[in-house]
Formats: sequence, structure tokens, C-alpha cells
Amino acid sequence: MKDANFLKANNARSIWHPMTAPSDSLNNPPTIITGASGVRIRDVDGHEVVDAVGGLWNVNLGYSCQPVKDAIAAQLDALPYYSIFRGTSNDKVIELAEVLRDFFAPDGLTRAFYTSGGSDSVETALRLARQYHKIRGDAGRVKYLSLKKGYHGTHFGGASVNGNANFRTAYEPLLPGCHHIPAPYTYRNPFNETDPERLAQLCLAALEDEIAFQGAGTIAAMIMEPILGAGGVIPPHPSFMPGVAAICRKNGILLIADEVITAFGRTGAWTGSRLWGVKPDFTCTAKAITNAFFPFGAVMIAEAVAEVFEKDETGKAAIGHGYTYSGHPVGAAAALACLAETKRLNVIENAAARGTQLHEGMKALQARHSLIGDVRGGHGLMCAMELVSDRATKKPADKAVLARVQETAYRSGAMVRVSGPNIILSPPLVLTAADVEVILSALDAGLSAA
Ligand code: PMP
Repeated sequence: MKDANFLKANNARSIWHPMTAPSDSLNNPPTIITGASGVRIRDVDGHEVVDAVGGLWNVNLGYSCQPVKDAIAAQLDALPYYSIFRGTSNDKVIELAEVLRDFFAPDGLTRAFYTSGGSDSVETALRLARQYHKIRGDAGRVKYLSLKKGYHGTHFGGASVNGNANFRTAYEPLLPGCHHIPAPYTYRNPFNETDPERLAQLCLAALEDEIAFQGAGTIAAMIMEPILGAGGVIPPHPSFMPGVAAICRKNGILLIADEVITAFGRTGAWTGSRLWGVKPDFTCTAKAITNAFFPFGAVMIAEAVAEVFEKDETGKAAIGHGYTYSGHPVGAAAALACLAETKRLNVIENAAARGTQLHEGMKALQARHSLIGDVRGGHGLMCAMELVSDRATKKPADKAVLARVQETAYRSGAMVRVSGPNIILSPPLVLTAADVEVILSALDAGLSAA
């Protein structure tokens, strides 16, 4: 490894970081991570902390997970790459599709379309949704609905359905025909409604209103995260997603569950859709499917949707979409090993127990730190605290305050993530009760220093 001074001096000179202004990396050099094991990461100065971010919501099994590393190494020897474009396939993607079919059977999803990440999965589902309607002779259904505060990656399709101006404005004009519904965000919403169940009903009424306004026959699909993630970990009332699914079904609109974060146990259930008892038409996955060790994803497709493509006699079902790395055999091998470990460790149990411990601990911190306006969680290991400068007015805390909390928490033993006014926590699902205490005491130190 190059020495620390070389790395620090050269980072900002030659790299533009995602989600960062180039000048910001110059003025606030990033922490350079050089090693990791278990649930801990180590920086170039040798400082080691619990990774309460879990990579980027994706290192569910921790950094040491040897079976995934071994599977990657073995696959690089056996078949490092071959495409699955028309005319060829490989053994690992076939094996993986069988495992995914079993895993997603309770969600009614039986086919896989492989991708190389979350944004690719979203783009795939948006496109296939339009194609589904065209095959059925319903070519007018081209629009998309989504939630404000939603995050669906950064391709133009995903950016168009994103519900956060930060990921849209600089890149406009985006795809026409994308319309956004208010999110069931109890802490702040346009209805000033503080009861989650009533708020869910108001948001569902807004959805019905938008469908009537646009005309149901113009809408291809609604995309949503079962729990809003990057938007600040916003779990809806349990009635919300089933309500969306029912409205979509009634109006012939396909439902795309964006489970890039929530699939594979993060919520304490195997999928976010299952948490709410919903059967979507498409489910987008990526991230934890390989424990982050290989860029990979899959869109899972419902049986009824699959049949429309497979039984087509109009010639409109050829899928003119796909990526060079769709079905990468090394990614598929990583996913096979990862899913086997995920099931062997039954990670949902620990995710649920440690998630409750973390959420309760954050509520205890809220009682002592007036900086915390809202604490959200309660569904596995997806938690957030929203910082405010004044609880009465809910004025968001300054960026500098959030940076201070993060920096002190890091010095005190835990990497946490800042997203807007939120501190977001999504640690590996295999962390221990003692690791949770480390995160909470690091947060306590961070909040005390702010
Ligand atoms: N959808 C959701 C819900 C996500 O959280 C993310 C990434 N955080 C994406 C899509 C995009 O995934 P990727 O960054 O792998 O393209």
C-alpha cells in the first residue's frame, strides 16, 4: 500500500467522488479506508471503528464472510466471464435463478433478469413495465408514479422517479410523465398529520387522486421502496404498501418494489414486501445480494407478468435491454454463496433483535439530546435520527452540526452516515449487542460534541 501522505495528497487531485462537490473533497478530505474485518473498518491512520453504515446498506454479513470470498476466487478460476446475451448462458446464473425463485416464492416472483447494480435494476423494471403493457396492446400506459422522498438510483429513469430534488435538478429535463405522491412521512408532511395510520390514508387518497387526474390508462407502473431508505429511513404505517398495491391492481398499474436496500433481511423480514404482506409485479434487488463483494443485481418478475412475455405471439416480447455484466458468473457465484450464508445464519432474527436494541437506544438518546427531532426505525437494522436546531419549529440542524456529530462519533468508535438532516444507521446484520452499544455510545459522544 502507498503511504498515508501519498494517498491523502492524491485523492482529491484525481478523483471525483459520487454525491460530493469536487471542491468539497479538496476542503474536507475523505476518510481513506484501507482494511476491514467482521463488522469493523480500519482507516489509513490505523483507526478502527464499527461500521454502522454497513458499507452502503449492503455489507449485511460483515467484511470477513469467507464463503463469498472463496466462491469469487473459485469462479474466477472456473469461468471468469461469459455473457448471457442471446445464444449463451452459464451454469452459475441458472443455479442462482433456482435459489432466487425459492427465496422470492412467497412474494410470487419466479423469474430473474440480472443486472450489475441497483440503478440498473430500477431501469430494467421501469422498461419491462412499459413493454408488458405494449405486449398486451395497452401502449398508452407509459407514465410512472413514485413517492416524494423516494430514491431509485441515478440513471435517467431512476432519477426521474426519484423524489428528492438533490438528485434531479442538475440533470433536468428528466423523463416526461413521472409524477410524485406525498410520502407517508409522519414527522413532516403537507397534511400536518401526526397519526401514521391517518397519514397513510391521506397519501393513498392522493395516489387515487393523481391516478384519476392522469388517467389510469396512461400509467405503466408505480415504483416504491417498502421502507424509504436514502430519503431518511421512513417506515410507513403497515396499511400503506398494501393500500398502494390494491389501488394499483384496481387500476391496471404494475407495482415495482424497489428492494435494493430492503431485500435479504435488512428489515428483519426476508423482503420488505413480505414485511407488509404485498405481492409486487417486479422487485428490484442489488447490494446485499452479494454482500457487496461483487457489483450485481437482479430484477425478480411475478409469474403473471412473466407469462405475458413468454406466451406473446405478437413479436413484441423481445427484450431489447441488458448489460454486458447481466448474469456475470462471478457475481452469480458470489450471490449463491451469500444467499446460502444469509439463510444459514438466519440473519432476520439478529436483524430484528439488534434493530430493536438500536432503535430503543436511539430513543433514549433523544430523551437526553434536544438536537434529535425524530428517531425512526423499528424494522430491523434500518434506523435514522433527524437533527433539528429547534424542536418546536423543526428547523433542520446546520450541515456543520451534522458533520461534527459524524466526526466525533467516528473518533469515538463508529462510522455513521449523514444524509440531509439525518444520521443514518444500517450496520451489518451480524453485529452483536456489544457492537450496538459501541454505536450508541459513539453517537452519544457525537451529539454531546455538537
Ligand atoms: N434503489 C434504492 C432503493 C437504493 O437505495 C439504491 C442505492 N442506495 C439504488 C436504487 C441504486 O443502487 P446503485 O447505487 O447500486 O445503483
